[in-house]
Amino acid sequence: MLDLAYKAPEPKVIAGAKEDWELVIGMEVHAQVASNAKLFSGASTTFGAEPNSYVAFVDAAMPGMLPVINEFCVEQAVRTGLALKAQINLFSAFDRKNYFYPDLPQGYQISQLYHPIVGEGEILVDMAPGIGRRVRIERIHLEQDAGKSIHDMDPNMSFVDLNRTGVALMEIVSRPDIRGPEEAAAYVVKLRQILRYLGTCDGNMQNGNLRADVNVSVCRPGAYEKFIETGDFGYLGTRCEIKNMNSMRFIQQAIEYEARRQIAIIEDGGTVVQETRLYDPDKGETRSMRSKEEAHDYRYFPDPDLLPLELEQAWVDDIAASLPELPDEKKARFVLNYGMTEYDAGVLTAEAENAAFFEEVATGRDGKQAANWVINELFGRLNKQGLTVAESPVSAAQLGGVLDLMAKGDISGKIAKDLFEILWSEGGDPAEIVEARGMKQVTDTGAIEAAVDEIIAANPAQVEKAKANPKLAGWFVGQVLKATGGKANPALVNELVAKKLGN
Ligand code: ADP
Ligand code: MG
Repeated sequence: MLDLAYKAPEPKVIAGAKEDWELVIGMEVHAQVASNAKLFSGASTTFGAEPNSYVAFVDAAMPGMLPVINEFCVEQAVRTGLALKAQINLFSAFDRKNYFYPDLPQGYQISQLYHPIVGEGEILVDMAPGIGRRVRIERIHLEQDAGKSIHDMDPNMSFVDLNRTGVALMEIVSRPDIRGPEEAAAYVVKLRQILRYLGTCDGNMQNGNLRADVNVSVCRPGAYEKFIETGDFGYLGTRCEIKNMNSMRFIQQAIEYEARRQIAIIEDGGTVVQETRLYDPDKGETRSMRSKEEAHDYRYFPDPDLLPLELEQAWVDDIAASLPELPDEKKARFVLNYGMTEYDAGVLTAEAENAAFFEEVATGRDGKQAANWVINELFGRLNKQGLTVAESPVSAAQLGGVLDLMAKGDISGKIAKDLFEILWSEGGDPAEIVEARGMKQVTDTGAIEAAVDEIIAANPAQVEKAKANPKLAGWFVGQVLKATGGKANPALVNELVAKKLGN
């Protein structure tokens, strides 16, 4: 594999403060496992169903009900860990995180505090071609989601929907290695891309299937390097955690706001209080939600209803062997095999299905040309209409057919675009359309020569000018192309015009 040499970006420095400040950010991303059943029950995870229609007795915490681990969910966490080059812990265990909330009938959440299923890994966050940040992953643990309280249906009452209760989440915790708002958003983009490649989480942020808690602190230049050198968190500033962010734009806005808020406090001689905050996108502000709770506040203890998880290395190895090609590898391969830029490779590999579509077009054809057509014509058009590649009216085979006709010299690039339009709105076989509608390029020298002669005869004054100034020959080329309905082979026209004008 080609290793694209990455250079780390400069940390973001906050302008407008009295002194220079740098940002330090760590993320806790909750990714809902793409499984049909919940983590400890057989109830369905279908989104948007009638409230309380998918609730097993154990989800509702009926007395005496016991949780049973869903092996599929465990496998998805392992797959995710392997894709993040992380250590897979063959021994892990579930703990109870105790707290009271109406949407949590058990009175505790089953999570993994002491022995998470996945240990240290990393993600390469792409910032610009050749520029990226390696963000260390601290751990991934499996836990249950809580239910949902609904406060806006009745003026006097709140309702509880337990459909979500017990759905499997992977909590993916990063080290505080993210150094700016754009990087934080790019981190979520990259993580989401990897999860979607794997199919372990659908990454649907609107439905809340991927949400991030963003930990933000500020420090003076040089302090972060000391932290990396020593591992001592004392070199970093006090952090605040912004909860439940599910939009890349809001993540950036919230971090910008939060950094300025903390800097203003410190520069005024105050101290930042560690707490949990919420971002209000309408006001563009974060506000305090609750003071920071510590692990001991939850009275964690090993869940006596569940045995520890013990994985066999061979089972993990099988999962490792079945991993798909991941975004970084695919991108490097596209650059190497098709001679495209890193930027184009990034666009084509953003989604696995886009990359597959491109490869179907490119196989056996000019890769660079295929990339241009897929990115500019096809993706451009799909984006404008809000369609995905799966919904594309033009198939990979049809687009490939257009490229073949160009390669054979049957159609020019300009006619190819007209043909693409026809395929987009009417469908059909590219070669048949070209044949039936007389769109074939004229390469017959005699016919083109006649057209050139005609234009020259009709414009004697222009001929005089063009003889004195060969640059004006382009005008004749344009006229001939117009007269032949764009079907004359442009290279031939150029050549004949130059010859006839004696240039
Ligand atoms: P908790 O689970 O109590 O929220 P953790 O120690 O697990 O606390 O850290 C949660 C997240 O906060 C991690 O992503 C970590 O990297 C990040 N973090 C820790 N210290 C800082 C800091 N000073 N500034 C920014 N992020 C931090
Ligand atoms: Mg936290």
